Amino acid sequence: MGSASHPLHIFFFPFFAHGHMIPTIDMARLFAARGVVATIVTTPLNAPLISKAIQKTITLGYKINIQTIKFPSVEAGLPEGCENVDSITSPNMIGNFMKAAAMLQEPFEQLLSEYHPDCLVADMFFPWTTDAAAQFDIPRLVFHGTSLFSLCASECLRLYEPHKKVSSDSESFVIPNLPDEIRLTRMQLSDFDKTDEVTDINKLFKESREAEKRSYGVVVNSFYELEHAYADHYREVLGRKAWHIGPVSLCNRDNEEKAQRGKEASITEHECLKWLDSKKPNSVVYICFGSVANFPESQLREIAIGLEASGQEFIWVVRKSKHNEEDKEEWLPEGFEKRMEGKGLIIRGWAPQVLILDHEAVGGFVTHCGWNSTLEGVSAGVPMVTWPVSAEQFYNEKQVTQILKIGVGVGVQKWVRMVGDSIKKEAIEKAVNQIMVGEEAEEMRNRAKALADIARLAVEAGGSSYSDLNSLIQELGSRCH
Ligand code: UDP
Repeated sequence: MGSASHPLHIFFFPFFAHGHMIPTIDMARLFAARGVVATIVTTPLNAPLISKAIQKTITLGYKINIQTIKFPSVEAGLPEGCENVDSITSPNMIGNFMKAAAMLQEPFEQLLSEYHPDCLVADMFFPWTTDAAAQFDIPRLVFHGTSLFSLCASECLRLYEPHKKVSSDSESFVIPNLPDEIRLTRMQLSDFDKTDEVTDINKLFKESREAEKRSYGVVVNSFYELEHAYADHYREVLGRKAWHIGPVSLCNRDNEEKAQRGKEASITEHECLKWLDSKKPNSVVYICFGSVANFPESQLREIAIGLEASGQEFIWVVRKSKHNEEDKEEWLPEGFEKRMEGKGLIIRGWAPQVLILDHEAVGGFVTHCGWNSTLEGVSAGVPMVTWPVSAEQFYNEKQVTQILKIGVGVGVQKWVRMVGDSIKKEAIEKAVNQIMVGEEAEEMRNRAKALADIARLAVEAGGSSYSDLNSLIQELGSRCH
């Protein structure tokens, strides 16, 4: 609380991508449930996704609301209505999208001056918010949307540049000064990690790092027990101020809340549960690559054949949607859906991911290793096949396979922007079976279930994340007195 007469008011400003909006909404709801007044700032076309997700919190009497600012799509050279990364259709549009995001500074400052919140939690993609908030003496917290492990790994990569000391893109190097020996190759690094060129996106990352140094601290969607060595490393060795308050997805307790995250699902909650209810515990593998990654049709075909060959039951989320019933989906092997009837379910579009993962029938997860998906997999206690594509997903893969030992890699070698590397059907079949059947799968499942139990405890009263959130709220409250 800010004071007896004035509850703490916090602005949340998520980047316009589902992987950033979804956890920020959960986070705002967590703060609101502790008596904070939470305002989520977004753009008109993103607002409906948020209002749907905060309905229940409002009904419970907590104070959470939305403020919108106009997104200058057309002014920045984007098509009208392009306000979310999921409507970006080619990598060339990313630059314009970032330009539009930077143009929000002025209207955002107007909101700050009008409402004067006590704190701002803003996404790393809005580096200018630190100074904007400072003008009004408002502390800014940074939200990266990733783990402490990957924050440490990327910082040590930047500091020590081990990738410049190998002679080829496929030669592995160790990232120095980390609690574990983490090996990567140059091929697995993002474009921005490995180039010294001053590109727009590199400039943005640089500004983001500099703004972070002037910020109040960092809030992380993770829990101490999951990565304590890295939580300590981040604070004590790298000298950062951070609060871990996750897994934030665990604030979605009932099926309705779980089914309502993000976009409108392409399957009803009822239909989805009916399908899953008919399956035995741990018998279904769930395959989903997040909200941004896309695969060419040739890769979708390999996945279909690999899944069928594995003999496992599955739910597979395919982002490509059919325009109409007659649409031929050339990538589907002849008669695939007929043969898979009752055994495999394809969801075209958006799936209620947490609802699915938390169902006892689901026993494995093929994931692109976006941090939200990874942590949702951990929270559901399922072993994973790791299939990183871009962003910091190769770091998350290391954490799952090497440190937590709850997954196996499908064998991706190369970081690519948005469109995945090609993996053969045999590798898919093998990896799926590795996490679903046999002794190794059982061991991974046991470890994953143990982590899921600890995750639940972390967010309950007295748990590590619960307590860290409390101390953050108290610290911000005392700042207001
Ligand atoms: N998600 C979902 N249904 C889908 C695809 C994604 O609910 O069909 C959610 C998923 O649960 C996660 C988020 O969208 O919370 C994706 O974030 P992540 O960090 O995993 O990946 P990104 O989309 O940022 O690559």
